[in-house]
Formats: sequence, C-alpha cells, structure tokens
Amino acid sequence: MSDCLFCKIAAGTIPVQRLAENEHALAFPDINPQAPTHVLIIPKVHVASLAEIKDFDLVGQLHALAVKVAHDKGIAKGGFRTVLNTGADAGQTVFHLHLHLLGGRAMGWPPG
Ligand code: 5GP
Ligand code: ZN
Repeated sequence: MSDCLFCKIAAGTIPVQRLAENEHALAFPDINPQAPTHVLIIPKVHVASLAEIKDFDLVGQLHALAVKVAHDKGIAKGGFRTVLNTGADAGQTVFHLHLHLLGGRAMGWPPG
C-alpha cells in the first residue's frame, strides 16, 4: 500500500536499523521505546491488523523473528512480552500489522 508508513519501511524507502529479517518479516527498533528493548516485527506484505489477516502462518513468522531477536538481544532468559494491538480500543495507531517485542525490565499485569 503506497501510503503506508510500515510498507515504506519494509521496502527500504524509509531507512531503519534492520535488526533481523526473513522472507516474510522485518524487525526494527521502535522509534519511541517503552522498554530497554522495544522492537517491532512487521510482515513485508501489507495487512492492516490481526482482524484483517487471511494467512495465519504470517503470525507464526512474526513470532519466529521475535524469538530470534529476543535471543540476539539477550532477553530470552529473563523474559519478554510480545503484543499485537488490534484496533483503536487496543491502542493500535499504525494500521500495518506489527508485533511489539518488549523486554529488559520487569512488567506489570494487566496492561492498561
Ligand atoms: P501501535 O500503537 O500501533 O501498536 O504501535 C505503533 C508503534 O509504532 C509505536 O510504538 C510507535 O512508537 C511506532 N512508530 C510509529 N512511527 C514509527 C516510525 O516512523 N519508525 C519506527 N521505528 N517506529 C514508529
Ligand atoms: Zn503497509
């Protein structure tokens, strides 16, 4: 989708630190980190949200890359959180599917 921020990041039009990627997904640092490690993992194809997804294998691909980055960043042992905000009520602000990977500090529950 030509007007989508994360499509432009996936295509390389907007440069980011490409932490890890595979055929289906790309991981890069969140611009406004909420934890010592805060990485976004996005599909390379445009999908607006989890509610719109057709290919559920993509959800596994995003998580596979998140786990790799968690190991690379050294947060796999201590623990990490993966979050998919879906829709306005959940706080989704960018309507290109993205998995948040957060770690490096203790976190509360339930989320706000
Ligand atoms: P959401 O609230 O939709 O679940 O998360 C969107 C995330 O994208 C936010 O954590 C926000 O900081 C991040 N974000 C928004 N614009 C950019 C950008 O241009 N570059 C990067 N790296 N992250 C962004
Ligand atoms: Zn997009």
